[in-house]
Amino acid sequence: MRKGIAVSPGVSVGTAYCIHEIFVNPDTRRLEENQVREELTRFERARDQAASELRALSKKVSSQVGEQEAAIFQAHETILHDPAFTSKVRSCIADDHLAAPAALHRVLDEYSSLFARTRDEYIKERLADVRDVIVRLSGHLSEVLQPDSTDLPGPLVLIASELLPSHVMVLGERQMAGIVTQSGGRTSHAAILARSRGVPAVSGVRGILRQIKTGDRVIVDGRDGVVIVGPDAETESAYRKVEREFVHLKDQLAENRDQDAVTADGEPIELLANVNSLSDTDAAVAMGASGVGLFRTEYLYLTHRDVPDEEEQFQAYCQVIEHSPSRCVTIRTLDLGGDKTVPYFGHDREANPFMGWRSIRLSFEHPDFFATQLRAIHRAAAVADADCDVRLLFPMITILEEMRRLRRIVRRLLRDMQAQGIPTRPIPLGMMLEVPAAAVSIDALLGEVDFVSIGSNDLVQYLMAADRDNPKVNHLCQPLSPAVLRVLSQVIASCRRAGKPVTLCGEMAGMPRGFVLLHGMGLRSFSMSPAQVPVIKDLAKQLSQEKTEAILQRALELKTVGEINRFMRTQFAELAPNLKMLDTQ
Ligand code: PEP
Ligand code: MG
Repeated sequence: MRKGIAVSPGVSVGTAYCIHEIFVNPDTRRLEENQVREELTRFERARDQAASELRALSKKVSSQVGEQEAAIFQAHETILHDPAFTSKVRSCIADDHLAAPAALHRVLDEYSSLFARTRDEYIKERLADVRDVIVRLSGHLSEVLQPDSTDLPGPLVLIASELLPSHVMVLGERQMAGIVTQSGGRTSHAAILARSRGVPAVSGVRGILRQIKTGDRVIVDGRDGVVIVGPDAETESAYRKVEREFVHLKDQLAENRDQDAVTADGEPIELLANVNSLSDTDAAVAMGASGVGLFRTEYLYLTHRDVPDEEEQFQAYCQVIEHSPSRCVTIRTLDLGGDKTVPYFGHDREANPFMGWRSIRLSFEHPDFFATQLRAIHRAAAVADADCDVRLLFPMITILEEMRRLRRIVRRLLRDMQAQGIPTRPIPLGMMLEVPAAAVSIDALLGEVDFVSIGSNDLVQYLMAADRDNPKVNHLCQPLSPAVLRVLSQVIASCRRAGKPVTLCGEMAGMPRGFVLLHGMGLRSFSMSPAQVPVIKDLAKQLSQEKTEAILQRALELKTVGEINRFMRTQFAELAPNLKMLDTQ
């Protein structure tokens, strides 16, 4: 039994499907003499494929983003053709009879120890490039990275070091019953994806890939953050029973999809969905959300083979608007950085990526690239029916000047579009409140925005100075911390005083305990993973303003996150005993 962080509630029992980052267990079997030639050809073929892929990427990125950003792919192609690199790999195959993936693994090891001796940071960073090239090559020797899942029996549990956008494609093809990752925390993207699909998940299980192999039986308990490898028959049958109850409860709750979201005192609340893709948007409808409160557009870029152009983006935005519940969508501009990177912006690796050149900062630096996205969004809003409610949301706003600059950019863009005869429609402009500085100066910022969306995932990590992806500081990165609750109360109160619409779209909105406290703060609009909508709708039926205000008051008197969590657990058990299985910390 291994313990990790519970990131998506529920229980599942299935067959492990391991995605190794690269060669965690390289196949070190020696080739027979007569296999060597074939293996060399296989390597050369992978090299040709990788080279043409890099050339295509470079061309597209250069025209869509910029020459400078495309340079990374040219550099990678140079490594691919570097005689020292290729002859090392060839010699491992021809002289040492290693299979191509194992040869690449050995060469990467050699470079790693060589580079470890240098103090030069620039040189050290080049190792990351060699690594990228090797990962790309391995992708073309594909069976190493992706064991074939088609022969595996029953539901699959995905086991990975971390969940990458490329894994999402695998997920798309075959529904996973559970997800376990070695790194990450409650709000890292693996967790968000798992929750949006309603799949039980546990993160931060260090070293799990060394203890489990594809085909093993595994249990994922997303309530307590437990993973059991190779359970005995008795344990498996006990968990199967809980799994059935979990599935039954979810099905039962989803039947409330056509009901309005109202509290016991008859007050309506808004339950919106966070989506990354069109299929999430369909899930938002199926789960009974009343709109899309956050469309994370970066997944368009992260899952694209190179860069989505204006037309592709326009089509994607139109589709999401068309498929959204009530055709109400808040589209967030590109929020790359931190744990979401694309190769064309990843050349200069930073010591503190979450605090660095990410999100809106990156968009400012690439005005043409940013304008392409803004044009596509405005075009999609303009062609949508008049009753559609499309809004534009800017991530990671830190200072007032940024909002003013964004207003100018949008004004200019609309003028240019009108001059070109392109139909436009002005749409509300909002900010994500996820940086403590913006929380402190919220009153000034409110003058420049039409609405606010609180990004509690980032707000918590910045306020607590605790990386949301690092399991070691998970005890600090807690949304129910006294400091976080105070800041959230103040921000919500400021927005309400100023009469500005405010939503919270971090994962906290869909956590039963978080939801109760936010309701007590006066928040009435929540955006969450689609799968959480029926749970929160059911919970809301037990609440009233008086009740949640009293609970919040008591919680604010407590001094530690442990006390608050214990208190909320008992409150929750009393309020909604039927939902106990779906409660998470
Ligand atoms: C947040 O930070 O709370 C948020 C919703 O944005 P993301 O999780 O995409 O950073
Ligand atoms: Mg964020």
